[in-house]
Amino acid sequence: MTTSPPPTDHGPFGLVVAVPATTAEAPFNANLREILLATVPLAIRQQPDLGRAEMMRTAQKFARQIGSHGDDLQFGGRHRGATLSALISGFALLSRAEGGVTALGVHACRAPHEGCPGAH
Ligand SMILES: [Zn+2]
Repeated sequence: MTTSPPPTDHGPFGLVVAVPATTAEAPFNANLREILLATVPLAIRQQPDLGRAEMMRTAQKFARQIGSHGDDLQFGGRHRGATLSALISGFALLSRAEGGVTALGVHACRAPHEGCPGAH
């Protein structure tokens, strides 16, 4: 009996899984986690391959949006949609990093790696 080689990546949608919360979870966090679980795979699929310089500029843009308007995301405000979009896109971008990204009760990665919470 032969076994197939392990996959070298998680496919076009990446791997996006919930991880146990490290602190008491507020209802907002649970809702945000569900939104991220539903939307980050699509963002991974739709995000074009970017060169390193463009990736850094894009990451800075997302970080600036989240840093400036994270309160709108949590408490409501006119920047809520743009900030949520930046958070989703930021997860998709960070999923490219070796070992992926783990935050807000979500892990996202694009390739198998040691210690992956989504590994079976
Ligand atoms: Zn992983």
